[in-house]
Amino acid sequence: MKHTIAFLVLFPVALCGCAPRGEIARREGLAMGTFFSVAVPGAGRRALARHMETVSRRLGALEAELSVYDENSAIARLNRAAPGCPVPVSPAAADVLALARRYAVYSGGAFDPTVAPLLRVWGFRGGPAPTAAPPAEALAEARAAVGYRGLVVTNGMAMLTARGAGVDLGGIAKGYAVDRAYDALRGEGAAAFLVDLGGNIRCAGRPAPGRPWRIGVRDPFRTERLLGTLTLPDGMAVATSGHYERFVTLDGERYAHILDPRTGRPVRGMASVTVLAPTAAEADALSTALFVMGPRGGRALMRSRPDAHVLFVPDARPLRLLADPGFLQYFACDAGVTVLSLPHGPDNG
Ligand code: ADP
Ligand code: MG
Repeated sequence: MKHTIAFLVLFPVALCGCAPRGEIARREGLAMGTFFSVAVPGAGRRALARHMETVSRRLGALEAELSVYDENSAIARLNRAAPGCPVPVSPAAADVLALARRYAVYSGGAFDPTVAPLLRVWGFRGGPAPTAAPPAEALAEARAAVGYRGLVVTNGMAMLTARGAGVDLGGIAKGYAVDRAYDALRGEGAAAFLVDLGGNIRCAGRPAPGRPWRIGVRDPFRTERLLGTLTLPDGMAVATSGHYERFVTLDGERYAHILDPRTGRPVRGMASVTVLAPTAAEADALSTALFVMGPRGGRALMRSRPDAHVLFVPDARPLRLLADPGFLQYFACDAGVTVLSLPHGPDNG
């Protein structure tokens, strides 16, 4: 359970039930192992309760289909199946698997939904936290089972071809779920709202006339502080991958719960990556991918996604922020924080 979410809504918020005019009604719940919230400007008690119920039901249904921890989920059944044996999966599971595989292709395998065996061997999937790196043999065995090319998704069926392979959708499922909650709220007529599932956020409309949604981006080194404020245009989403939420400490060094599938090792050198994108699934997948790739390695990926924008916070002192020019259009730094603009153009520039 994560107790810190990556973002704060910087608005007067009515924490329980209905909101007087000009205020934002907001309610919280639990889903997918974290907190979610629905904020609706000026909503009355009944409207807010209805929206909350809609989101809650949608997130619960997706959790039941996608969780690796629920042995009845489509993903758990896929992970149990013998190598090369296709299993039927629900439309939503097929959709997320196909989307995850697409981001694996876009990122050259930096984002890879088949990292489950590596997560397990590094101790990110239950059991006691490891105090040393896994033995070389176990690591080699896990690495051999990882690779998105071994994940096949067609016609409502999914298959893993490698022995010992497993899928983990932790890097995209929450974003995908936020998009489905967003669609559902739009579908029941809500024009302005903000949905947040463990720091995966998407907004619609505006909180008040002439005022956009704004959220705070946390300082990954001092999570009670903000680096700055991000303005969210109508329909846009944001997600953060950070090393401060879940990590292991080996020989006194902190390692993120994000693994580089190409080395089989937890990523080092990055404290947090925040991505602004047209959908929450894209923001979620890209924040994980770019956490692995870094500012230099991620340039080609960012050029191929012109509507997505990124802020990197390297794990180094003094604090240094790097963002692409698109991100800077929406971001205002807090006092004492400076951010460098990442160059556009070819990697050798
Ligand atoms: P959070 O879960 O804290 O929101 P992320 O969105 O960055 O953070 O997702 C991290 C999760 O993604 C991990 O807990 C794990 O389930 C999964 N994961 C770890 N490494 C990778 C990777 N290289 N590609 C895809 N998913 C990954
Ligand atoms: Mg992610």
